[in-house]
This record gives sequence, structure tokens and C-alpha cells, in this order.
Amino acid sequence: MIVEASAIEPGSHLEADVCVVGTGPAGLAIADRLAGGRRQVLVLESGGLKPDPAVQALYAGDNIGRGYFPLDACRIRGFGGSSGCWAGLCRPLDPEDFEARPYVPHSGWPIRRADLDAWYAEAEKFLGLRGPGWDLARWSTKGAAPWTFADARIASTFFKLSKPVRLAETMPGPMRAAENIRVVLGASLVRVGLAPGGGQVQALHVRRTRGEGGFTVAARKVVLACGGIENARLLLASDDVQRGGVGNGHDLVGRYFMEHPHTDGEGLLLGSPALPSPAFYQRHTRLGQPIWGSLGLTAEARAQEGLLAATLVLLPRRDAPRALEEPMRQVMADTDAPDRPLPEKGVAFTFGTPSEQVPDPESRVLLAGERDRLGVPRVRLDWRVSAVDQRSVARTHAILAEALARSGFGRVRLTLTPGQPFPAHTGGGRHHMGTTRMHADPTKGVVDADCRVHGLPDLYVAGSSVFTTSGSANPTLTIVALARRLAAHLDEALP
Ligand SMILES: Cc1cc2nc3c(=O)[nH]c(=O)nc-3n(C[C@H](O)[C@H](O)[C@H](O)COP(=O)(O)OP(=O)(O)OC[C@H]3O[C@@H](n4cnc5c(N)ncnc54)[C@H](O)[C@@H]3O)c2cc1C
Repeated sequence: MIVEASAIEPGSHLEADVCVVGTGPAGLAIADRLAGGRRQVLVLESGGLKPDPAVQALYAGDNIGRGYFPLDACRIRGFGGSSGCWAGLCRPLDPEDFEARPYVPHSGWPIRRADLDAWYAEAEKFLGLRGPGWDLARWSTKGAAPWTFADARIASTFFKLSKPVRLAETMPGPMRAAENIRVVLGASLVRVGLAPGGGQVQALHVRRTRGEGGFTVAARKVVLACGGIENARLLLASDDVQRGGVGNGHDLVGRYFMEHPHTDGEGLLLGSPALPSPAFYQRHTRLGQPIWGSLGLTAEARAQEGLLAATLVLLPRRDAPRALEEPMRQVMADTDAPDRPLPEKGVAFTFGTPSEQVPDPESRVLLAGERDRLGVPRVRLDWRVSAVDQRSVARTHAILAEALARSGFGRVRLTLTPGQPFPAHTGGGRHHMGTTRMHADPTKGVVDADCRVHGLPDLYVAGSSVFTTSGSANPTLTIVALARRLAAHLDEALP
């Protein structure tokens, strides 16, 4: 059933087994898994089925750190969340992304990649992806094969491309049909109310997004699924019982904000005649599934040099060869093997490089003094990048350049220097991670391995805010995998 908040009597008190707040990929993946089951599920959504500028304005906030997108223009507040505009690139995190790496401070999830494997398979179905897992050999064909390098430090991988699924189009039907699910649109959570003493959630305080009035909700299990910035905002803003906000006894909520810095258009690869076909590294369809190949360093190579993960996609320089005449001359002059011919007319690529960040407690979501129309303090985002973040991208480019040269595939004119800051154009990917990080130790993380807020038996968080580290893969496939796992946990945890 889907109803509007305006149909709920102001001052009412609603009850449910599970209350999910937010209908982005995280919230809907949970509701969808519980649909048809024995739990009464209440889903609260601040927006409606269609985008609405007045609702979107509730997301406005300030950027006080590295330059970032306006906070009301890098996510969607409405049914389906940011699935309404996402690009659909999907890839699971790598096994080593979950491990504690000595050269990455604050790394190490309390779960392993293997704990998510089955949930990744469910997540793929939810996002409309197909095909046999992620074994590279199965996705390679004669005409579109990953390059084989003489240098063992280089690995290929690939994205699967969701259509992209727009949940506001695909999910209203199933939500209406499920008898145990009630979705309330135009219902904004403004405060998580704790019982006196702070040991459990007493009530969710909800306002009509449009108009006046509101209602409260009591549920045996509550899941915040409001996105990587908003989950932290709501916990911080709910500070009437617990000083500093719900789940914030160790001053961790909002900290460790991570993005995937996107350093695009850097480096210039000029392919030699020996360069194999780049078809695998361009968007193509295999086994009925659109995919896009990418390059990176093996886990061993990264560990050896203390580098973070970086994914390199090849961006064809369509202006080649004429506009590249001068850069090509320079590259040829730079070559350390002058006897190896380079083409006069070349295949040319630059690199697009979404990359990992070291989790940094000073990179964070804070609350501003100003409040939105519903009385919730607005967000101040202090996004920071570190020297290791920057060195990792520059060094990855350099290692790939060495490998391409050694294999005789071409020459790379490097444009990034280890030790130098990111170019000014390096921005984020609209991936908001880390602000309610997962850790087994309550002094080091906000949620435990089950995504449950430490110290509260009935409050959970879904979404990339629980990521302990970010890897370099786009987050939504992992968000949905974790959400499906959480839904199964909730079903089991309820008597
Ligand atoms: C332009 C763009 C391109 C992207 N491309 C990709 C990509 O290619 N691959 C990828 O993996 N990711 C991509 N992303 C990121 C992806 O969209 C997010 O990772 C994903 O949507 C997060 O899902 P979520 O459910 O956690 O949060 P969201 O999608 O942000 O959903 C949060 C939900 O909570 C609701 N909500 C918020 N506050 C309240 C409140 N107070 N009360 C009630 N409800 C509330 C919102 O209305 C929304 O429905 C992209 C994002 C953007 C903006």
C-alpha cells in the first residue's frame, strides 16, 4: 500500500514490526526483501513519486572543505532516492577492500567479502544485472579481451552497467501489491527519539514534508536508509537524550566521510601498433549484459607500494590525431626506447580514475546553526583529501605507464606527479560514504557487523554511510548487498 502523509491524522501514533526510513536503493532493497513476509513493514519517504524542488531544498547545506557539489544537487530526495539519476555503474568491492591494511589507517571491516557474496548475487538481480558473476575469463571474447601485460602488477576488471534501474518506475507496483508493506510518502523523519536513559528507540518523530503537523512511529526495529550524508545528519540532530546525537557516544557520527575522488582526463596514452584492441575497455555488451572494462593494480602491487585502490577507465581522445600532434611529438621525444616505433597517427586515450581515500576522522558531516523548513539543522560538509589519496592515483598512472611501455603497447605522457595535490578539477563521484562506519569496537565505529547502532538493540543503518573503507568501486551494488543481508537479519532477529 502507498499512502500520503496528508492522509494520516496529525498527532497519530503508528506501529510496525520494522520501520524503514528512506526509499533509495538501500531502503527499497530491504522493503522488497521483506515484502510478502510475516513482518508488518512501515516505509517512510520524505518526498513523493515525482521530483519536487521544495522537497529537494531540504537537502541544501554548506561545503566548507574541498570544493564539492551543492548538497541539494548531488542526491535526490524522493521515492527511489538517487536511483532517479544514477549512472548505473556496478562492481563489487574486492576482498582486500574489507581487510585491515597496515598502510591504510582505520581500515578493516568486521565482515569479509565472502560474507557478502550471496548478497551480491541478490543485489545484482535487484539492480537488473545479469550474467555469471565476476570471473574475468567468462566476460572475455576474442574481439573484446582484457590486455595481457608482461608486468604482473596490472589487473583488469570491469563494471556491469545497470540499465540504469530507476526505482521510482519499477518499485511502486510491488510496494502497492505487498499486503505487509505500507509506504507513507511526504513523511520526513526529523528526530530519532530515544527512551529516557538512551538504551532504545522510543519513537520516530515524523513531520509532513508539505504542510503542517506530523505523527510518531514505534517499531520493533528501525532502519535509517536516508543516504550517506543524511543518515549522519539525522543521528546528530537527534541530541535531546544522548548528548551529541544518537549513537554518538564516541564522537564518531559524521566523521570519516569518504568520496571517490574522480581524476578524469589525466595522462595521455598513445597506442603503438602492438596495442591490442581496446574493445574490452569500451562499453560493450557480452552475454546480454552491458559491461565496461577497466585497469588497476593487483592487491599485491598496491600492498608493496602502500597504495590505495584506483580504477582506470580509458577515455578515447576523439580529437586524435590532429589536435594531439604536439603532445604526440613530446611523448615520442620522451621515450626511453627510441627504437620502438610509435605511430604517426595513434589511438589515444586519457585516464578516468575514480579512487579510494584513506578514512580520515577530520573529513566529516557537521551540523550548521541554520535549520531547514522542518526544523532540522542543515549540513556542513567538510570533505578532505590526503597526501596518500593523491600519491596513490599519480603512482598508479606511473606504474601503468611502465607496464604499457614494457609490453610495447604504447607510451603514456604522465600529467600527475606523486607528491603534488590533485588537479583542481578532481571532484567527487556523488558517492557519500563512511559517516556511520562499521566496526566491531564501539569506540571505532558507529554500527556493528549487522549494521546495528552500537548500544541500541533496535536501531540499524543501511547505505554507504556504514562503509568502513570505500574501495574504488561505485557503491550502490554493495549498498544493496548489505541491505539484503540486513533485511534477512531483521527477519531472523524478530521473535
Ligand atoms: C548523478 C549520480 C550518478 C551516480 N552514479 C552512480 C553509479 O553509476 N554507480 C553507483 O554505484 N552509484 C552511483 N551514484 C550513487 C548512488 O545513487 C547512491 O549510492 C545510492 O542512491 C545510495 O542509495 P541510498 O538508498 O543509500 O540513498 P539515497 O539514494 O540517497 O536515498 C535516500 C532516501 O532517503 C530519503 N530521505 C532522506 N531524508 C529523509 C528523511 N528525513 N525522512 C524520510 N526520508 C528521507 C530520500 O528521499 C531518499 O529516498 C550516483 C549518484 C548520483 C547523484
